[in-house]
Amino acid sequence: MNKLGVHALSWVGGWTEEEATTAIEGSARLGYDLIEIPALDTGAIDVDGTASLLEEHGLGATISLGLDPTNDITSDDPAIAARGEDHLKTVVSIARDLGATHVCGVLHSAMKKYMEPATEAGIAQCATILRQVCEAADASGIEVGLEVVNRYETNVINTAAQGVALCKMVGTSNVKVHLDTYHMNIEEADSARAIFETGDYLGYFHIGESHRGYLGSGSIDFDSVFRGLRQVNYTGPIVFESFSSKVVNPQLSSMLGIWRDLWDDGEDLCRHAIEFTKAHLQAADRVNGLVRHPGVGGVFIG
Ligand code: MN
Repeated sequence: MNKLGVHALSWVGGWTEEEATTAIEGSARLGYDLIEIPALDTGAIDVDGTASLLEEHGLGATISLGLDPTNDITSDDPAIAARGEDHLKTVVSIARDLGATHVCGVLHSAMKKYMEPATEAGIAQCATILRQVCEAADASGIEVGLEVVNRYETNVINTAAQGVALCKMVGTSNVKVHLDTYHMNIEEADSARAIFETGDYLGYFHIGESHRGYLGSGSIDFDSVFRGLRQVNYTGPIVFESFSSKVVNPQLSSMLGIWRDLWDDGEDLCRHAIEFTKAHLQAADRVNGLVRHPGVGGVFIG
């Protein structure tokens, strides 16, 4: 049903041949279906080499990224916005050549703390550019996930409802909301309800703890989250995301504020995460149909 994936930063900080081999071989060996490869620096990815490693190990792939202030598609500087459109289209073509199924992440703005709210014109421009990018992705059968992240990482979509609204503005059939439990824990009143209200717009899902370490060692209510996913019959990828200062990507780790050692053994972390995820999905399968809650439309929502 759901493909289970893991973000490459649980294994390695970069993407040399040796790093790609470690991450792809390890993910496949632990039973993951796919690896999410960050494409902040598109030039650093050996597309042919990565494609053959994926094939050799029978592993699927997705690509994620965040834009930055030099290629922010909400910028009122047309040259900056155009760079963002080019970058997103380059990432889509890399995804196509890797056989990746999804491009996701903070595609809608720079991934940074803004000091002002997004403007109406900036969001309209963002939706127009994303429509072009999504059409290019659709030609290769790729889905696009717009990641709803907390207020310190974008000013465009901080809640699932804002994510759905942006998808409607983009208007293509392959644009979806990408939710992440770490961000939902900061911004949503009720994560399970947010999943329910996203419904069919949900296309990509990150599971991460409140501190981005081992699943179950923080304060996220994963029972409600997995019941919510089952309640909306979510069939897309479920991808584990975790960061520690033991595995550093110079761009991503500093932007995300990964200052603490939450773990030092990525393999143990990833093995635990897939077992945790499978157990929670199995439990959620047992619960749905048994529990009713006076939620939306009288059906259980979490
Ligand atoms: Mn995420």
